[in-house]
Amino acid sequence: MLHTVSRHVRASFQATCSTLYRQSRDLNAGPSRTPLPVVSIVGSGPAGFGIAQFLLKNNSNIRINMIEKRPVPYGLVRYGVSPDHQDVKNCINGYEKVAENPRLSFYGGVAVGETLSLDDLMLTSNCIVFCHGAQEMNRLHIPGEDLSNVFNAKEFVGWFNGDEEYSHSNPGFNGDTAVIVGVGNVALDCARMILKPTRLLQETDITQHALKCLEQSNIKNVILIGRRGPLQMACTRRELSEIMEINDIHTTISNEYFTDSVKDALNMKKLSLRKTQRLVKYMMKYSNNDVDTASRNFSIKLMTTPIEICGDNTVSSVLVRNNIVSGGDAFNPKIIPGDVIEKIPCSIVITAIGYGNKVLDERISNTNGCINAVKGRLDFPFPIYACGWCRTGPKGVLADTLNDCLVTGGRMIKDLDSWSDAGVEQPLHEILRRKNIEYLSWKHWKQIDAHEISSGCKIGKIREKIIAYDDMASIAFGNGK
Ligand code: FAD
Ligand code: NAP
Repeated sequence: MLHTVSRHVRASFQATCSTLYRQSRDLNAGPSRTPLPVVSIVGSGPAGFGIAQFLLKNNSNIRINMIEKRPVPYGLVRYGVSPDHQDVKNCINGYEKVAENPRLSFYGGVAVGETLSLDDLMLTSNCIVFCHGAQEMNRLHIPGEDLSNVFNAKEFVGWFNGDEEYSHSNPGFNGDTAVIVGVGNVALDCARMILKPTRLLQETDITQHALKCLEQSNIKNVILIGRRGPLQMACTRRELSEIMEINDIHTTISNEYFTDSVKDALNMKKLSLRKTQRLVKYMMKYSNNDVDTASRNFSIKLMTTPIEICGDNTVSSVLVRNNIVSGGDAFNPKIIPGDVIEKIPCSIVITAIGYGNKVLDERISNTNGCINAVKGRLDFPFPIYACGWCRTGPKGVLADTLNDCLVTGGRMIKDLDSWSDAGVEQPLHEILRRKNIEYLSWKHWKQIDAHEISSGCKIGKIREKIIAYDDMASIAFGNGK
């Protein structure tokens, strides 16, 4: 059930801004001649802010134009990270300080590759850093994936995190069983949001529509499906324990996955295996085949591949097939299809099988959508760099992205003298004005931010997010309700 309304939403946002903009002053207008060097950063997630912070700290002349597709900043920190991970979202405090530096200008609501081209960026800067993340979602490519109440994780996560594109997804929790495909941390986030008592979410920044819906949920069982064994779980121990240690949740993990070869692997002494070994030992502690009388059950079903999602309009079950090990070693087993087919009745399915990269401009992206920037720099006639998930692919936590910023940022500072000293041909805001492209500045965002915090405060929450881009524009330009 894919609700891709982004183009429509952005067109409407541009039109709304355009009307409101004429009635207000340009809060972001900079000087008409821009001092050197000017860096365009595409994206305002952890990679964009990490790079901005590094450059501003290590060079006192650099000016930055941060160009963000959405009207508001922070990428997956706002639209991905779970509402109950507020400690993770604290990184925003550091990003704010970066954005308040007078050498940084924020342009929200401007999509590079759609409203603004790579050529425009080359005219308006001495160098470009792509930090636009990974915007696609992988698909299983099995029958039934488009049935009603089947979601990919981006839709589901976007729904509870207030992403306008997915705010109308309306997942239904009428039945008693949810199946989640994938055993990575995103799958765990989805499972936790369904299983966690809603009283533990009500003060967070979860959107009100999602909170109300989860409060009425009838789901009693969440089943996670992994196609390989325990040593190949993609999640981390901490995230798993966050679910397994919720009061009144019973976890079921069959003993049969912990074969002799898995147990032997747990005794191998190698630093790089430690994290996985700790995770598997933790799972073994909880392994059992019982179903309990707890109010909610969480099961991890491994060595299993979904082959069809069944239902009449709406999902009613998932057909799965077992997998068996036919060689390899415990850490890299060769998995082949078995011949046992099972039907798992369920009323909602979420596929959390990884994000994907999107080609932004064919001149700079590989066919898989990533930018092949070796140690941060792309082999291209104009200085182009890349950082974060658009370079590494969709893997890693905030700390990994920050490390990537140090690599790319370090390379940029080293290269600085080789960037053109011819100056930029035009300031960005002039190109935007000439092309009638509207945008929200950092001051506009701060107005939206204040509005969200104050609306949240009234109902005992950290913030209540504005969902519609048009409403954001109204608040930004002082016309909000
Ligand atoms: P993003 O955060 O995706 O930022 C990219 C930015 O670029 C976005 O703002 C996007 O709108 C913008 N953009 C995209 N296309 C364009 C364009 N054409 N023009 C202009 N701008 C554009 N890590 C943790 O450490 N802890 C967690 O709890 C955690 N939870 C997560 C939950 C989920 C659901 C996911 C998917 C990831 C989570 N992560 C977590 C990982 C973390 O979010 C990533 O490591 C990090 O966000 C990657 O940063 P990025 O800047 O590369 O990408
Ligand atoms: P991920 O870690 O790559 O996990 C993807 C999962 O989907 C894996 O279990 C994978 O199994 C499975 N999968 C892929 N294709 C499949 C298919 N065709 N059929 C069945 N299963 C399939 O991706 P993610 O969960 O989206 O997370 C992305 C990154 O964000 C990760 O680095 C994660 O740690 C990070 N993140 C962190 C947090 C946190 O720190 N709290 C929260 C969310 C995300 P195989 O291994 O067999 O391919």
